[in-house]
Amino acid sequence: MSSAPRASSPIVSASPESFDVGGWRITPLVDGRMRLDGGAMWGVVPKPLWEKLTPPDADNSIDIAIRPFLARKGDFVVVVECGLGDRWDEKAKRIYRIATEPSLVASLASVGVAPEDVTHVVASHCHWDHFGAAVARRGTELVPRFPRARYFAPAIEISNALTPDHVRRASYRAEDVEPLIVAGVLTDYEGSVELLPGLHAHVLGGHSDGVAVITLGDEASSDCAIFWSDVVPTTHHVQPAYIMAFDIDVARSFDVRSQWLARAAERGWLGLFYHDAERATARLVRDGKRYTLR
Ligand SMILES: [Zn+2]
Repeated sequence: MSSAPRASSPIVSASPESFDVGGWRITPLVDGRMRLDGGAMWGVVPKPLWEKLTPPDADNSIDIAIRPFLARKGDFVVVVECGLGDRWDEKAKRIYRIATEPSLVASLASVGVAPEDVTHVVASHCHWDHFGAAVARRGTELVPRFPRARYFAPAIEISNALTPDHVRRASYRAEDVEPLIVAGVLTDYEGSVELLPGLHAHVLGGHSDGVAVITLGDEASSDCAIFWSDVVPTTHHVQPAYIMAFDIDVARSFDVRSQWLARAAERGWLGLFYHDAERATARLVRDGKRYTLR
C-alpha cells in the first residue's frame, strides 16, 4: 500500500536558503519526492547497518528526495539537474510512491525565478528521476520545460535514452530527450569540460554509463561545490563501498567514488546531494579509509 508522503519532512522547504560558493549563488530546489526500496539503495550493505542511517517503512522503502539546485551568477540562471517531472501514470506513482508536488516550477517560483528566466539546464545523466522534468506537456505536445534554456547532457546518456538495451530500458524514457532534440536546444558533452564559466562537468560512469559530477567554482580550492548526482546519492553513501544496487558497473563505481570522495575531502569542497531526505549539503572529512561529515 502506498501512503501519502509525510508532510513534516525537512526536504520540502517553503523558503529555501541560498549560499554563495565559487562565485555562484546556489539554492536547493525540490521536484516532488519518492520512495525506493532500501535494499536497492544500499546494494550489498547489510540492513542492520543501513536501517539506522535511512530508516525504512514496513514495505522496506526509504524516503528519497528529488533536489535539483539553482545556480546563479551574472546573467546565468542555471538549473543543475531537473527532477522527475509530472508525467507519471498511477501505476508508476504507486510503485515508486511518487509525489509530484511541490513541483520544480513552484520551487523556482518561491525564489522568484520563472521558467523563461532559466538560461541553462545541466544534467548529470538521463535517468528518469533526474531528467523527467526536462520537458513539459503542452496540450498534446511535449516541449522543453524551460523555453529559453540551453540543455546539456552527457552524449552517451542521450543515446542510452533514445535507444536503451534491455538492461537499461527501465531507467530511461526517450520522450524525456526527443522534444529537446526536435527543438534544437540539447548540447551533448563528454569527458571533463567547462560548460559555463566556472561550471565543469566530469563524466565518470559507474552508476550509469555516462553519469557526471558537476562542479561550481574553483576546483583547486575549497571555494567549490560538487553536485554528486547518483555517484554519491545521499550523505549516508559517502563510504566508497556503499554502492547502490542500481549501479550498472560496480567496479567502476568503486574506482570513481574512491577517487572523487578523496578529492572532495582533500580540497574541502561543499557536496550537493540530490537524493538525501534530510541534508542538501555537506563537506567531508577523511579518516583513513572512511569519511565523516564535517
Ligand atoms: Zn537518481
